[in-house]
Amino acid sequence: MSTVTFLSSEQALFEMSPSSDLYIRTKKSNAERLAFVLEIEKEFGFNDHFAYRDNHFGLEIGSEAEQQYEKSLTKGDWYGYRKFRKASKEYKKLLSLYQKHCHTFVNPFDMMDAFGMNNGTVTQWIGDRWFITVRDGLQVCASAKPTHYETYLRAVRDYKESVGEIHVEKCVCGGTFKPTDRVWNVEPPLFEYMCEDCKTISNRTIDGEEVRPR
Ligand SMILES: [Zn+2]
Repeated sequence: MSTVTFLSSEQALFEMSPSSDLYIRTKKSNAERLAFVLEIEKEFGFNDHFAYRDNHFGLEIGSEAEQQYEKSLTKGDWYGYRKFRKASKEYKKLLSLYQKHCHTFVNPFDMMDAFGMNNGTVTQWIGDRWFITVRDGLQVCASAKPTHYETYLRAVRDYKESVGEIHVEKCVCGGTFKPTDRVWNVEPPLFEYMCEDCKTISNRTIDGEEVRPR
C-alpha cells in the first residue's frame, strides 16, 4: 500500500486542466519515465538508488547496487552518485532503454511560467488528476483552476478506492459501507461512509480505519 502525504491545506490549491499542453506533456513524460524505470528494475534489479540525467546514469554512493556494479562505475562523485562508465555494457543497455522510452521532456522553466517563480509550488498527481499548491495564487496560469481542499481530499479517497487500497469491513448488519460526499479537513483527514442497507454512518481515515467520535 502506498501512503499519502497530503498537500498542505494552508496554501492556495489549484487543479491543472487536463486539456492544457503542460498537463498533456507532463503526464506523457511521467508515463515514459515510469516505463523506463520499471524496465531497468526488471533488467538490473535497482530502482531506488538510480538516477539519470543528460545521457548519464548513476547509482547512489553507499547503496547495495553501487557495490554490486562497482566495476562498471566511474570513481568520481556525481551529486552523491557514481556514473556508469560509457564503455560498460550496462551503460549501453541503459542508454538504449532510455532512448526507447523517454521522448517527452518538460522544461523546468515551463513549470515556473505556469505556477510562478519561487512560488513554493508543490505538485501532486492523484491518478489522472494533477493538484498544485502555491504561496501566491495570483501568479498561477489560467490552465490551472482554483479548487477546494475537500475536492482534493475526495480525489485522494476515490483514487485509493479505485486501486483497491481502502479496505472497509462490512457493517454489522451485513451491508456495505459506501463513501458519502462529506469529508473533514482535520488531522488526519476523515471521510464519511454510510451503510447502504441500515444507513449507519462511520467516519474513516484514508486507510479505511474507523474513527469513532470522541
Ligand atoms: Zn448496516
